[in-house]
Amino acid sequence: AFQHLQQAPDDPILGVTIAYNKDQSPLKLNLGVGAYRTEEGKPYVLKVVREAEQRLIRDGSRNKEYLSITGIPAFNKLSAKLILGEDSPAIHEKRVCTAQCLSGTGSLRVGAEFLAKHYPQKVIYIPTPTWGNHPKVFTLGGLQVKSYRYYDPKTRGLDYEGLLDDLRAAPSDAVVLLHACAHNPTGVDPTREQWEGIRQIIRSKNMLPFFDSAYQGFASGSLDEDAHAVRLFAADGGECLIAQSYAKNMGLYGERVGALSIVCASESVATRVDSQLKLVIRPMYSNPPIHGAAIVATVLGDRGLYQEWTVELKAMADRIIRMRHLLYEALRARGTPGNWEHIIKQIGMFTFTGLTKEQVNFMTKEYHVYMTSDGRISMAGLSSRTVPHLANAIHAAVTK
Ligand code: PMP
Repeated sequence: AFQHLQQAPDDPILGVTIAYNKDQSPLKLNLGVGAYRTEEGKPYVLKVVREAEQRLIRDGSRNKEYLSITGIPAFNKLSAKLILGEDSPAIHEKRVCTAQCLSGTGSLRVGAEFLAKHYPQKVIYIPTPTWGNHPKVFTLGGLQVKSYRYYDPKTRGLDYEGLLDDLRAAPSDAVVLLHACAHNPTGVDPTREQWEGIRQIIRSKNMLPFFDSAYQGFASGSLDEDAHAVRLFAADGGECLIAQSYAKNMGLYGERVGALSIVCASESVATRVDSQLKLVIRPMYSNPPIHGAAIVATVLGDRGLYQEWTVELKAMADRIIRMRHLLYEALRARGTPGNWEHIIKQIGMFTFTGLTKEQVNFMTKEYHVYMTSDGRISMAGLSSRTVPHLANAIHAAVTK
């Protein structure tokens, strides 16, 4: 029945790891996938996660029954509070409905299908560039995908005017996807003033903001600071959607734990939205898995564990920032042509190096350095031991 099928290409991001795994060189370096590694280059399970798991095991009252369609209620409440803030008026007014979903991707997909079914303007604007999975998630979720300008390769910064122009020209009521912080892949975020400008356009045109929050706590090291943009939009009393992922900030990548929150106009709307979200989720995967969300609920719900989490999170964010400085200094020490200040200016897990596809291919072939072809490197995959090798590779690619 499937003889006609052609071999599909590997995923552009996950395919980097497949190629890396095949490489036999001891020098090989995987800077493709956005996953945190320790100084020793090892995956990291947070201590608070281990502790929460121990508590869950010791709790003999737990079972393996199905969760409800929207998951663990305590997890949902705590997740909304984490992104919207302790004293969020929207939460107090019970205008927020939250569903535990399958990490960030699943939350985006459920949000897309909900909008395709119930929101009249079925077009979503996404930044150029953006995370490679966004266009696919939204298209398959039933939305028409269009783009707005975001990154200016000339300044290696935000194309603020282009962004505003494109939003001004977009149809009113359109959905606008915004990276809550640590924009992937560019590492370029709007300033606070720029966020306010973006908010004004979006609200004045009655557009619907959809925040993708995959790196809360990873950009600045502060959970509150990284929630600034979302809270700015929620503070004006308007509506928005938020997809949260615990993959990076709690290191729960493979547990697939995240949440979709919809901030509604009133409590009664939120109640109806919640009922309709269930109709979207039930035929998709019925209900979400228990383990990851139980870990998150344990950490967020315990003052001591929460405090420890913020310390571990800050340590991860700081290590990434240290790698930025080491790489920058290493390139300067080699006299590598070009201005590399963006390495220390960009925010979050990634550096958008500006290296061309050909330079990336050269670095992979000659130096066994693996990264996405758009020149994005995951700073979290670097260590002080591997920075010199990367700097040599970049230097060779640039001066070739
Ligand atoms: N959005 C962005 C911008 C991301 O970078 C990622 C992870 N790479 C995700 C969403 C979702 O990741 P996950 O489904 O693993 O939570």
